[in-house]
Amino acid sequence: MNRLFLPLLIALLALTRPACALDAHGHEAAVDQSAIIVAFLNNLKADNSVYMSSRKIEFFAALSKGQTPVATVVTCSDSRVQANMFDRSPEGDLFTVRNIGNQMATAEGSVEYGVHHLHTPVLLFIGHSRCGAIAAVSGNYSKESAAIRRELDTITISKDLNNIDGVKANVHNQVTGARLKFAEEIGAGRLLVIGAVMDFADDLHQGAGKLHIVNINGETDPAKLENVSALLAKLKPKAAPEAAPKKPVASKPAAAPAAAAHH
Ligand SMILES: [Zn+2]
Repeated sequence: MNRLFLPLLIALLALTRPACALDAHGHEAAVDQSAIIVAFLNNLKADNSVYMSSRKIEFFAALSKGQTPVATVVTCSDSRVQANMFDRSPEGDLFTVRNIGNQMATAEGSVEYGVHHLHTPVLLFIGHSRCGAIAAVSGNYSKESAAIRRELDTITISKDLNNIDGVKANVHNQVTGARLKFAEEIGAGRLLVIGAVMDFADDLHQGAGKLHIVNINGETDPAKLENVSALLAKLKPKAAPEAAPKKPVASKPAAAPAAAAHH
């Protein structure tokens, strides 16, 4: 028996007695957690089989050689936000860090790894509509555990903002923090820090599911954000003879061609 499977089986057996939850009327209602878990595992296996069979061996061979991701991405852990919303094949493209409130402060090592070791030319922060972390920070979260409070404490937004404006304010704050931390890389033209909001709830009234770019290296004017080439030209260092190349490919293995094919 698989070593990983045994503890899972024990956990499943422990759950065979239905757990109880309160229904809308405050009565205890049975929730069959084991059925949910079994369905989840079945779905996981089935979807993974489809994934394996729908890709060629070359795709996995390319991934096996190493990674040269384009972006270090810091996004909220919220289950409603996933990479396939803005990247059809994220494998090899995105070095992803996730936590509650898409904040850099409690994930600094992971973000540094993406920027300093993988040399991603983009650092992208993604907030999202209806964010629970932002809702918590806007209210009183003193009853949360110390571990949760430690992460929420890093989010500093005005409590009078509505949720979507709080999400945007937090994204702007994260971009500001990253610009300070990675000032050298930005100054040398090696890094662009982008702030975005995934609006699956259409709270910004431009279509449900739209990914809004709200900040590029501190620029927040919507008209200017549309013209990325002009922004890049402005950000390019005027004279940087010692500036390193954007992607020191010589020290890294080849990118995954299958993942890059969609871009
Ligand atoms: Zn969230």
